[in-house]
Amino acid sequence: MLQRFLKAFFLLILTLGTAGAQPPEPKREIVIGLNPSERAENVQKNADLLAQMIGQRAGIPVKMFVAHDYSGLVEALRGRTIDFAFFAPLTYIFAEKIADARVLLKAERRGRPYYYGCIIVNADSSYRTLADLKGKEIAWVDPTSTSGHIYPKAALKSLGIDPDTYFGKQTFAGGHDKVVLSVINGTIAAGATYCNDTLGESGSWTQLGDGAYNRKVRPIFFSPPIPGDNMATSQFMLDAYPQLVRKVTAAVQSLTADSAGKALMQQMYHVDAMIPATSADYDPVRRAAELMNLDITGKVRSGEGAPTDSASAAKANQRQQERAKNAMISYIVLAIGLVAGVIALTWLTLRERRNRRALVRETSAGAAAPANSSTAQYLLQNLSVVYRDSKGGEFTAMRGVNLEINRGEFIAVIGLSGAGKSTFLRCLNRMNEPSAGTLLFNGKDITHAAGAQIVEVRRQVGFVFQQFNLVKTITVLQNVLTGRLSRTGWFNSMIGRYSRQDRQLAVRYLTQVGLADKLNNRADRLSGGQQQRVAIARALAQQPNVILADEPMASLDPKLSEVVLQILQRFNRQESITVIVNLHVLELARRYADRIIAFRKGEVAFDGKPDELTPEIIEAIYRMENEELHRL
Ligand code: ADP
Ligand code: MG
Repeated sequence: MLQRFLKAFFLLILTLGTAGAQPPEPKREIVIGLNPSERAENVQKNADLLAQMIGQRAGIPVKMFVAHDYSGLVEALRGRTIDFAFFAPLTYIFAEKIADARVLLKAERRGRPYYYGCIIVNADSSYRTLADLKGKEIAWVDPTSTSGHIYPKAALKSLGIDPDTYFGKQTFAGGHDKVVLSVINGTIAAGATYCNDTLGESGSWTQLGDGAYNRKVRPIFFSPPIPGDNMATSQFMLDAYPQLVRKVTAAVQSLTADSAGKALMQQMYHVDAMIPATSADYDPVRRAAELMNLDITGKVRSGEGAPTDSASAAKANQRQQERAKNAMISYIVLAIGLVAGVIALTWLTLRERRNRRALVRETSAGAAAPANSSTAQYLLQNLSVVYRDSKGGEFTAMRGVNLEINRGEFIAVIGLSGAGKSTFLRCLNRMNEPSAGTLLFNGKDITHAAGAQIVEVRRQVGFVFQQFNLVKTITVLQNVLTGRLSRTGWFNSMIGRYSRQDRQLAVRYLTQVGLADKLNNRADRLSGGQQQRVAIARALAQQPNVILADEPMASLDPKLSEVVLQILQRFNRQESITVIVNLHVLELARRYADRIIAFRKGEVAFDGKPDELTPEIIEAIYRMENEELHRL
């Protein structure tokens, strides 16, 4: 792992100098990122239509990127995977700090650019005021939710109520719908969620569940108004493509001018109109974040006030200082990088030499001879993984797993979040070391393999990560060529000297995943779906016997997920590569896998063919118990 990191790091350092100097290419399409929110399915369903409508109005093709979570959206803007984003207010504050986000438009509902956080209780309960909730359990949406956590909590604090001592217990339910359901089902006394007015006429409970929850909920406390969610771009886009930004802003603003656009915005976000916004509109959110002591980047900037001449001069001055500071930081990073590079180089040389010697020793001493006559590609016997923390605490993430995996299988691994899927997968290429039991790979015992033996395992096993893990500043082709690292030797790869065969191989796999026309594009200029295809091509260029993919489509929308699975399926069938993929969408697992393995609390809860999965088994695999709900 460290070795890979150092190689990637060195490549990055080598390309750093040239990367920043490139002038922006003209844009042929734009990518807009969407908040997943609690209506993820709804958003995904309508995303294409929204793209089409904005594209027609702005006169440029538009693609949508539905992020997996809020931080994914911020990261995508920072990495320039997306050009614009629809943000929730608090996420925007983060994005401004981290990704240089600049707000353009904000949402207006019922004639007001505000909404509220409110605390709700079951309509049949006797709770009427905050005082009734003392010592009771309350559900918040999640730590970063503006209306479902930050605002109502800050409002309580400003009234002198400390939620940490006032309530008997606090829980993060994981979504507005889950908060509402907990309150309706009576499992939790109160919950925090969003509402559009302070009369309680319209809120999450009237908008979720198609009106079924309308009269079952009573709001008893409202936060101050929250500035609406917004659409933003980045400072980079404003500098590089000012005209394009203006066009897209106008296009989004005009969406609600006709009935089709209005209906779509209503359906997706319950928005009546998008109106111009400034950063100062979000000062109240900054203050709430401050009151909550939220550590965004250390300090919370104060408002910018009206744009007077002296203010803009000061701002320009500040920007210039920032630029000078950034340049200085770049030089320091470069210098540190070069020193680190030299150290890495020496270290890698010594290590590779040692590994090679060890491999020769092991092979000649017969240490690699089969330890078991089984023909299985993987054999897991009573395998367990125990994680230990720095305070000596232990957690058994995988317990007594027995499995036989044969060459050429296409296996989907399913289970709740935290069930142990990633732990299992990371054992198979020995990113995790098992704590007990035996792990055989092609008959060889690799349970506690080290050094050259691990290098040999990883050479045969390609890993595709959820977040792609590409080197952002180098080209697509160079990224895929790094898949050849374990076969070319690091020195050649580091100076960019790959053989013609390596290049042909990389081009072949990029062509097969449909990216022949993107070879020389910078990796971070590609959309999420394209980046994941580069990651697959990189794994394939390694010419592995096995591909392990850990939720490779979690950051992609459903259509792109299918493309990724289809590519994996093709290589599984055509080249008999064993594919083991962690998947959270059951439907996709059923459709693509020959065999499904389900984990529950670190144990194998099901192992069989997709059609053997009965509703009872599915229920047992996905049943949430209290502790799991609380961990959300
Ligand atoms: P999944 O991929 O199914 O969501 P994981 O394998 O990531 O599950 O995690 C299984 C359990 O092990 C979870 O409870 C998780 O919190 C815990 N866990 C995972 N990685 C570590 C780690 N490095 N240290 C401690 N606990 C961990
Ligand atoms: Mg996982």
